[in-house]
This record gives sequence, C-alpha cells and structure tokens, in this order.
Amino acid sequence: MLGGVRPTSGRRSWWLREALAAEAAAAPHLAEAAPPLRGTTTADVVIVGGGYTGLWTAQRLTELEPSARVVLIESDICGGGPSGRNGGFVTNWWDELPTLIDRYGVPGAIGVGEAMEAAVDEVGTFCATNDVDAWFTKSGSLSASAAPAQDGGWMPAVTALREHGLGDRLVPLTADEVRARVRSPVFREGVFMPGAATVQPATLARGLRRVLLERGATIHEGTTATEIDGQRPGWLGALGAGTRRAPRRRGTAGGPRPVRVRTTSAAGDGEVLAASAVLALNAWAGAWPWFGPRLVTWSSYIVLTEPIPDRLADIGWTGGEGVADARFTLHYLRTTPDGRIALGGGGGRAGFAGRIGPAFTDSAADAGRAAAGLRRLFPSLRDVRIEDAWGGPIDISADHLPWFGSVRGRPIHYGHGYSGNGVGPAVVGGRILAARAVERADDPALALALADGRPPQPFPPEPASYLGARLIREAAVRRESMEERGEKPGFVLRELSRLPRRLGYHLGPE
Ligand SMILES: Cc1cc2nc3c(=O)[nH]c(=O)nc-3n(C[C@H](O)[C@H](O)[C@H](O)COP(=O)(O)OP(=O)(O)OC[C@H]3O[C@@H](n4cnc5c(N)ncnc54)[C@H](O)[C@@H]3O)c2cc1C
Repeated sequence: MLGGVRPTSGRRSWWLREALAAEAAAAPHLAEAAPPLRGTTTADVVIVGGGYTGLWTAQRLTELEPSARVVLIESDICGGGPSGRNGGFVTNWWDELPTLIDRYGVPGAIGVGEAMEAAVDEVGTFCATNDVDAWFTKSGSLSASAAPAQDGGWMPAVTALREHGLGDRLVPLTADEVRARVRSPVFREGVFMPGAATVQPATLARGLRRVLLERGATIHEGTTATEIDGQRPGWLGALGAGTRRAPRRRGTAGGPRPVRVRTTSAAGDGEVLAASAVLALNAWAGAWPWFGPRLVTWSSYIVLTEPIPDRLADIGWTGGEGVADARFTLHYLRTTPDGRIALGGGGGRAGFAGRIGPAFTDSAADAGRAAAGLRRLFPSLRDVRIEDAWGGPIDISADHLPWFGSVRGRPIHYGHGYSGNGVGPAVVGGRILAARAVERADDPALALALADGRPPQPFPPEPASYLGARLIREAAVRRESMEERGEKPGFVLRELSRLPRRLGYHLGPE
C-alpha cells in the first residue's frame, strides 16, 4: 500500500543493489578493483568524487590524454551518492532556455542547449559501445499540468525556442494528447520534450567505473578527502571561511607546486600529490570554503512500486516516456522494464551549512510525501505496494544551473550546482573539467558559455540561508498543494513563495 514508506536508511538504492548484483554476477573481480588508499601516491590528475561528474571527467581524460595517470578517490563506492540514487531522467536543457538566455545571451544559450542535447545521445552511445545495459530509452519526457495554476508554465521556453527556429524541441500538448500518453484524472494540458531519455542510473555509474578501470585509471573507494590544498570542509567551510594556507612546496622535479589531497580510509591515512585536481563533490561541496556560500543542499526522495505492468497498461502508460507534473516542487515518474514506477520529488528540505546527514536519506515523512504524490496523480494505483524508498542530497545554485570553474591561481577545477538535473549535464561537465585539468584551451567544451567559470549569486550566510530556505519551501509546498485542491492561497503565502524570485534567484514558483 502507498502509506508507511520507510526509506532504506541510507543503504543502497534499489537501482544500486540491482546494479551491484548484476556486476557481481558478470565480473566478481570488479568489487575489489578499487581498494582504499593508504600512503602517498602521485597523479597527473586527481579527481575527488566518484559520481557522474568525476567519472565522466576521468572518462574524457582517458580520451584526451591516454597516458595521463588519473587517480579518482570516492568516500563511498562509485555511484553510492546521487549518481546511483536519482530518477534516471536524462533531459536536455531546452526547457531552461529563458534562464540560459538571461545568463549567457542568445548564441551562448543555444550553444549550451545544443551541447546538452548531444549529451543525451552521448550517454546512449557510451552504453551501446561499452556494453553497459543501463536501459537507455529515448522516449522523451512529458510535463503535464496537474492544476489550473500549473497550466502553460512552459510557454516562455516554448516561445523562446520558436523564436530561434527550435520549436520542435519542446512541443505543447492538448489535454487529449497528454491522455494519449498517460491517463491521470488530474492531468490537463502539457508539453513534450522528445529529446529526453531515461536510464538505470546506478548501472550507468557502475558501467563508467568498469570502463575506467579497463582503461587504466586508478580508483580508490572508501577513501575520503579530508584536506585539499590546505582547505578543510566543515561548519566554517559553509560560511566561506576555514581556509589554511597550503604549505609552500615545490614539485618533486622542481616544477610547480602540486595539489595535495590528504585522505583517510579504513586502510589508514593517505595523500595524493597531483599536477591538477578536479573536485566533483556535488552537494558535499557545500561544506568546503571555496563553494559553501553559493550552494544550498536539499534532500530529495524516491519511492519505487512493485512490478505492475498490467496496471500501467490500464492507465495507458506503455511508451516508456518520463512523466512529471508542473509544480515547482515537482513530482517526476518513470517506469522500469519490469513495469514498476519510480516516483520522486514533492518538496525535499534544506540542509544546514553543507552538512549531509540522515535527513537526506532516512526521512520517512519525505518519502511519504513522494508516495502521496503518486496517490494524487494516479488514485487508481492506491493499492499498489511500495517496495523501496530512498533519498539523497541535491546541490542548489542561485540560478538553478551548475557552474564549472577553477580556484584562482591553482590548478584545482570544480563543477557542481546541478540543482537536481545532472545526469545528462554531467557529461558536458566532464568534458569541461577534463579539458581544464590538462589545459586543452582549444577543446570545444571550453568554448561553451557554461565553461566561463562565472559563479552564481551567493546565498545569505548561515543560519539565514537555512531558515529562509525552510520557510520558503513550506510556503511553496503549501501554496502548490492549495492550488491543486482548487483553493486560493492568501497574499502572504503567495508573496513568501515568490520571495527568491524577487531577490533575483531563479528559484521557487513565479
Ligand atoms: C533523489 C534524487 C533524484 C534525482 N533525479 C534526477 C534525475 O532524474 N535526473 C537528473 O538529471 N538528475 C537527478 N538528480 C540529480 C543527479 O543525481 C545529480 O545532479 C548527479 O548525480 C550529480 O553527479 P555528481 O557526480 O556531481 O554528484 P554525486 O553523484 O553526488 O557524486 C559526488 C560524490 O562525491 C563523493 N564525495 C563527497 N565528498 C567527498 C570527499 N571529501 N572525499 C571523497 N569523495 C567525496 C560522494 O560520496 C559522492 O559519491 C537527482 C538527485 C537525487 C538525490
């Protein structure tokens, strides 16, 4: 039944359990192929973080500089974080075109849009070429209004695309056309993104890991970076403070000072000395001094039903497309080959000072909110059993877009701020970061406006950021729920939910 949803208490998501079981059956030696680091090692490029950003960066490095020594360290296992927990929507960014134009101007925005469109296919090609069975399905993605207040929210993007001759990238649908794809009693009109796909997210992450190992990259799982070039994460980091000056050391051959990453693992302490570093930390970046003030961490939960292929046929949802409502606190749903529904979203909560604790993985209330979304969108599935639930952190930036930059004066490069939409974009992020790490100034990825390194607007310092985010989130969830029930939210509630937009952030309902 849909009630009483217990998350898997930070354990592996269903996706990751499935992926690890398949991996153990096909190639048992892979489990031991990424031992924890102990002692000192050297690298041309050290990558911190084994989610998609780190893995795609390493993958691109093996193409750009096959002889480079690439060392990736991951505190859990590759794909143990959001890259093995997400909804598996591989979307392009055409629905973000107005925001992209605001940020980059028209040519820059279209260039970024085209790169994101190509990234979806790149995921499919990678899977096909490397025998990674991540269920890559390019059946598009439907966003449907589930209340009058949600009608037409996509029109600014549709209009901008039409103006630039790209009208087929996002196609408005009538209520009948929505019903032809999936029948929900609350769905109204909608919009369809033909270029979107879905994947089994953890199989993709583990597939990337396997291919990297085959190409000679070194991976140390169970290994946490505790200090990078003299900086440490923590409370002060989230405020942008807590910096220590890195020791003035010269490279071993008298060359430039290497980046030193100190680590800890069950095997003991270690360090990597590298010519350059890529930090692919996602929400964990919020605790590091370089990035803390420009990120808000946010929880997001997914529930997974038992296999119900016949019930999917009853609601006419057999085309494999991703589906979402059009709330700001959106619900997104996709199916699996054995006929399950995975549904995520419905609100989430802000974290404090970049700390990623149990609230991001263990909240029965937040998982229950996702399950309630399924009940509202498809009341006929009320009796369907939820077999699993899990959560993870997302990294929200002020304009809802990631940014890719470098620490001033140091060969340390970073990318984060995907704001819950990183599966496809991390491919592009990996290209940018790899090109920066080996100084390929002529790489086309560095010509993208997204690679300009310009940081987004900072958030207010803690505790104002945490308190403000919680207050505004309550207002947004309450307002959108009232609108769905056909009630009119009061002036104060509406204005509070709009406050981020009034303050110049591309966040929250209009
Ligand atoms: C529930 C949920 C659903 C989502 N659904 C979608 C979706 O459908 N489509 C979409 O596009 N996006 C979705 N996202 C977002 C998407 O998962 C992320 O944007 C993407 O996975 C980011 O990849 P990453 O490599 O940057 O981060 P991650 O996958 O988080 O990887 C970062 C890694 O860094 C490691 N790490 C952190 N600190 C250290 C340290 N000090 N030392 C060593 N390692 C460290 C972490 O353990 C982690 O594995 C979702 C996210 C969540 C949580």
